[in-house]
Amino acid sequence: MPPKRKKETPETTRKKAKKPDKALTAQTMNLSRYIGAHVSASGGVQNSVLGSIRIGANAFALFLKSQRKWVSPALKDTDIAQFKILAKEHGFTMILPHGSYLVNLANPQEEMREKSYACFIDDLRRCEALGIKYYNFHPGSNVNREEGVKFLAGNLNRAHRETSSVVLVVENMAGQGNILGGKFEELRDIIANVDDKSRVGVCLDTCHMFAFGYDIVSQYDKVMSDFDEIVGRRYLAAFHLNDSKAACGDKRDLHANIGVGYIGLEPFRKLMNDERSIGIPMILETPQEDEQVWADEIKLLESLIGKQADDPTKAKELSKSGLKDRQAQKVKADKKKIRSG
Ligand SMILES: [Zn+2]
Ligand SMILES: [Zn+2]
Repeated sequence: MPPKRKKETPETTRKKAKKPDKALTAQTMNLSRYIGAHVSASGGVQNSVLGSIRIGANAFALFLKSQRKWVSPALKDTDIAQFKILAKEHGFTMILPHGSYLVNLANPQEEMREKSYACFIDDLRRCEALGIKYYNFHPGSNVNREEGVKFLAGNLNRAHRETSSVVLVVENMAGQGNILGGKFEELRDIIANVDDKSRVGVCLDTCHMFAFGYDIVSQYDKVMSDFDEIVGRRYLAAFHLNDSKAACGDKRDLHANIGVGYIGLEPFRKLMNDERSIGIPMILETPQEDEQVWADEIKLLESLIGKQADDPTKAKELSKSGLKDRQAQKVKADKKKIRSG
């Protein structure tokens, strides 16, 4: 039983609702795309809304509790109320929380699987308390992939029964080791084992997709139509927008800023003009030293909407700035290949 909370009416909380600080960039109105970043919720979930306003986002992701702890204190009623008020006032409908990194719903060990499930269901209840429709999580890992898929889907079915509305959005992975969900076929198998198909979806992370071996640089159209064919476009619920410091097929999960990694700007231009990206959250998880980086990346991505061809000057400039990083990662990857024979 969660501790009893003091009741607050929306009117009393409204007076206390924080005003956003001065924005770094204004939100673009009436966009067909919902672009944001995985922003900080430290100090209270409501701060994620304020952070998103500052960077001119119209969507966002957040952690609903510490992502590296199994148990966290419950959300405060006042924070929940402020979150709802701010999200409504600023028109945020595309909110995609990210699950804890500790959770592995496919774990072969029952005890760890149960511990994961407890953490997972707690997050889903937080979503429902905040009025959030979608929840993004990693599929987990298991040496026996088939068993892993069954355990995972079983837990998703259980979570569906124990909640009423939240849609479970599984993220594609870069495919390192025994991590599930790199291959489209594996995502398809997970969904096939879920009973309530109306409450399951997929988030495609561009970096993970590319690192796994889906070459969106030279075969964007083929990769995306393969997804439609194998998984089904109806399940596409979100994108994570990340360039990759690792080359295609390296199976290493190293996010880079948009345009500076091995993906480069052009596939993002294609994505921003792909009808698949209309009306769903698109979330940056790119490295940033300060919020300005995301404010600029959001504006850059928005500028690609409606563009028929890449701006070669901008693409070159970005690519050049990431050259050293790409070369360093290539050296690392080559060394690893030599070691593993
Ligand atoms: Zn993720
Ligand atoms: Zn991601």
